[in-house]
Amino acid sequence: MKTACIESRGSLGGTCLNVGCIPSKSLLNLSEEFQKVKHLSNKGIEIGEVKLNLSKMMKSKDKAVTILTKGVEFLLKKNKVTYFKGFGSFKSKNQISITNDQNKEILIETEKTIIATGSLPVSLPGVQFDEKTIVSSTGALKLEQVPKKMVVVGGGYIGLEMGSVWSRLGAEVHVVEFLDHITPGMDSEISNEFMKILKKQGIKFHMQHKVEGIKKNKLGAVVATSDKEGNKKDFECNVVLISVGRKPNTQGLNLEKMGVNLDEKKRIKTDKNFKTSLENIYAIGDVIDGPMLAHKAEDEGIAVAENIAGQSGHVNYDTIPGVVYTTPEVASIGKTEEQLKKLEIKYKIGKFSFMANSRAKAIDDAEGFVKILADAKTDKVLGAHLIGPHAGELIAEIGIAMEFGASSEDIARTCHAHPTFSEAVKEAALSVEKRAIHS
Ligand code: NAD
Repeated sequence: MKTACIESRGSLGGTCLNVGCIPSKSLLNLSEEFQKVKHLSNKGIEIGEVKLNLSKMMKSKDKAVTILTKGVEFLLKKNKVTYFKGFGSFKSKNQISITNDQNKEILIETEKTIIATGSLPVSLPGVQFDEKTIVSSTGALKLEQVPKKMVVVGGGYIGLEMGSVWSRLGAEVHVVEFLDHITPGMDSEISNEFMKILKKQGIKFHMQHKVEGIKKNKLGAVVATSDKEGNKKDFECNVVLISVGRKPNTQGLNLEKMGVNLDEKKRIKTDKNFKTSLENIYAIGDVIDGPMLAHKAEDEGIAVAENIAGQSGHVNYDTIPGVVYTTPEVASIGKTEEQLKKLEIKYKIGKFSFMANSRAKAIDDAEGFVKILADAKTDKVLGAHLIGPHAGELIAEIGIAMEFGASSEDIARTCHAHPTFSEAVKEAALSVEKRAIHS
């Protein structure tokens, strides 16, 4: 097909590459190195005083972003996709206007269109991001100084990742969360363990606290909260990160006039082939239903292209992994225990602690565990939840197992190299039938 991509940011790769996954992973890695190196003398490696050069660290992060976004530009060229730099808006179902940053408009004709305009950070009522004192994830990725005190509103993916970065670099981080647990939707055993570990790392949690308002002052800002008993507490801080979720980005596309239907959460409604209410217009990623994850959007992009080309594109929503890139990492796939209970599906649990994994012990990185949920009757793997070293990589093995309809015994009988972290997955699978070797 003859294809074109319209992008208004001036740089390709969307939220993920520009202001999301990639810059945050760069800072997560660098801040972890900073923290690790400070403690190496305990292990016999003396390197003297360790100092932070934040602007150099930020440059290193920006370099990673530039390399990757330029890489995407190169790939578009290589694959003969025309790249239009500008803001796209539907004129009709076969015509899109593109306005560039000089306000020049051109019109292109199209047979089929895929909307993949992503999502935007949500703020709190009456609170505006200035991206310096009151920041979204975008501002939290480019602070010029380490704040003395940072309040993070919302204990989800962004709050905990960016809270970890700034805590490791020296900030006192307070997470104010509306619910009684962090990372809603995650298996609760993992979520509880996760909070315990983050507390040990120095992050302070204020659960069941509602934010009533945020006002800027000389120092930075004051976050007014009340707890579930109605007790009021103000948090004075230098920077507030608001990470209470993201909303679909459909503004300016002219969808209402075109007759493209949205759902109650303002997401674009699609059928199972990603078709909107208009025959030749499709939508994928954060603008439609489902987890707001880059890899979910990527798989939908491939499936929709296959469908448009007359093939049978398909996404298996039961096997989309979720990873929080903190230390340790947290990863999950498939159903949680809470979901299985709700669905009245009988299940068995296999669990194995990294404390009994030789590789993890050898490198003194043995926090966390692997939990596998399997069908009580058929032994088919229904879900897996991990907290521990390299959990985000280990989850891929379970994803493949689930795609092939494997049982926990299939994983348990697969030879895993020794000594590796992946042996903890094998042992958790063995533990489903109470046959773990090292526990
Ligand atoms: P989130 O949905 O992960 O978490 C939001 C948190 O804010 C929840 O715990 C919620 O209970 C809490 N909350 C909501 N309103 C509140 C209020 N008024 N006061 C206090 N707490 C409140 O959202 P996020 O962290 O902003 O992330 C946005 C999206 O980006 C998510 O869909 C996430 O999946 C995605 N993301 C993924 C990754 C990753 O894959 N590693 C990283 C970053 C972001």
